[in-house]
Amino acid sequence: MRISFDLDDTLICYQPDVPSETPPRWIWRCMVANEPLRQGARALMQGLRQRGWEVWIYTTSHRNPSSVWWWLWCHGIRVGRVINQHIHDRHLRRTVRDYPPSKNPRAFGIDLHVDDLEGVRDEGKTHGFRVVVVSPDDPTWTEKVLRVTREMEPRRVSHGN
Ligand SMILES: [Mg+2]
Repeated sequence: MRISFDLDDTLICYQPDVPSETPPRWIWRCMVANEPLRQGARALMQGLRQRGWEVWIYTTSHRNPSSVWWWLWCHGIRVGRVINQHIHDRHLRRTVRDYPPSKNPRAFGIDLHVDDLEGVRDEGKTHGFRVVVVSPDDPTWTEKVLRVTREMEPRRVSHGN
């Protein structure tokens, strides 16, 4: 199973009342922009990986994918691919007449996408992909994501007597 996370207002929240993870002191050595990583993200994303999920990033920003990858790596998080607006356009907007949705996780084999925008969930209904909407002011956001991922995981079959 593959899950993707949006960046702005999902994993990166600049609002002063949204708590963020403490970055390692040596993060400057990563040569990446030290943006705030929302509190809870590390445990959530590490836990998902341990349960067999492949974790990707899907953003409509133009941040450099390898910078995002290293920034998360510095926080102890390994992600698969980072899809930014440029990669999205190259994959889904081959001609000027193509008007794809703002995101299309299904086109990248992503089973579940986490985003702060209701509009992305609406696009999911139209284009057939699943979205969990979490708002920046929701302190229980990781539980919301965990609940949906658990529902989607195949049930373990018990062979006991
Ligand atoms: Mg966003």
